[in-house]
Amino acid sequence: MRHPTFLSLHTMFDIEKIRSDFPILERKVYDRPLVYLDNAATTQKPRCVVDAMSEEYFSVNANVHRGVHFLSQQATDLHEAARERVARFIGAASSSEIVFTRGTTESLNLVASSFSEAFLREGDEVLLTVMEHHSNIVPWQLVRERKGIVLKVIPINDAGEVDMEAYEKLFTPRTRLVAVTHVSNVLGTVNPVKQMAAVAHAHGARILVDGAQSVPHFPVNVQDIDCDFLTFSGHKVYGPTGIGVLYGKEELLDRMPPYQGGGEMISRVTFEHTTFERLPFKFEAGTPDYVGAHGLGVALDYVEQLGMENIHLHERELTRYAMEQLSLIPGMRLFGTAAEKDAVVAFTVGDIHPLDLGTLLDRLGIALRTGHHCAQPLMARFGVESMARASFALYTTRAEIDALVSAIDRVRKMF
Ligand code: PLP
Repeated sequence: MRHPTFLSLHTMFDIEKIRSDFPILERKVYDRPLVYLDNAATTQKPRCVVDAMSEEYFSVNANVHRGVHFLSQQATDLHEAARERVARFIGAASSSEIVFTRGTTESLNLVASSFSEAFLREGDEVLLTVMEHHSNIVPWQLVRERKGIVLKVIPINDAGEVDMEAYEKLFTPRTRLVAVTHVSNVLGTVNPVKQMAAVAHAHGARILVDGAQSVPHFPVNVQDIDCDFLTFSGHKVYGPTGIGVLYGKEELLDRMPPYQGGGEMISRVTFEHTTFERLPFKFEAGTPDYVGAHGLGVALDYVEQLGMENIHLHERELTRYAMEQLSLIPGMRLFGTAAEKDAVVAFTVGDIHPLDLGTLLDRLGIALRTGHHCAQPLMARFGVESMARASFALYTTRAEIDALVSAIDRVRKMF
């Protein structure tokens, strides 16, 4: 399939060249060119990320932080350089506010566990939107079991936008935290997190932003948003699996207890008493995924060199085009029509079960996702059990969206 060079408003976004950085995109499935539209689940990796990681394993590898020997120091330098890289990328005030985790899910569990230990009492309230991923719901339900906190749900309108009036009305003197996704992994809605943070702070509450679906797609600056926490996963931003980030304001992280105990996170241990390391190491028990952290740093360099603004413009245009083209298919029901929408389209077609649709599209070489997308409360909000979802990345082309549209039309005609 030819992928014509795409001209964005500000720059030439040379799609052919970009795609050549991702060897997997040359693959065929069922003897057809792969059309990979499952980027919200995970993104493909540019060669530079995998090369940097194998180079580290082949020529630097040693455990970080503990050794005085040459390799250990070099590995530690790479690890800490990656932390600095992440801090700059999201505009954190200091790299000690960057905690490496396994991914968004672990970052969210860390906050739920440690923040609640430090700051939540029985009857305190946490607000969540109805569009949260299960990983920003279930950890809070576990806290509810343990501590008797109250979870309140922020409603959305039919376009999939947060109802800001209802949001404000949910606050009481017991509201301690708002935990909200920046971008819905199903609807693509970009939530007004800066505005939501201002409202939360005006009520004396804190705000956690789940950036799993925003950090890969447009510039995110934690100081501009003024969020108290931000979470994201390396594998969704062209980095490796097994590495993720928790950003937290230093004054908060300082007052939160460790999440796990073990090596690396202590200052001194006796059987009577243990003191903990300074930030961020207090939250990083055990050997970290230092090679993964380095890979993530290289991935952030890669997207930054393309320009997050350029990526954003490219994907916004693709999303607009996809919505326009899909809406022409008879029986198409599109979920998520927010004015601010990014890189994800979710839909059903007539009464074709999304699983059947996904299976048949797969035979045509098109990889998309079907099911509840780890957002069952959102499925219930729209009165469905499942949806099909196509999600885009910086290497997605118009030709791939055309392929999706004509494949759906072909499948539709079989029913
Ligand atoms: N939050 C959102 C909005 C997501 O889309 C995802 C993954 O799809 C997660 C959290 C969980 O991310 P991970 O599985 O990388 O921990």
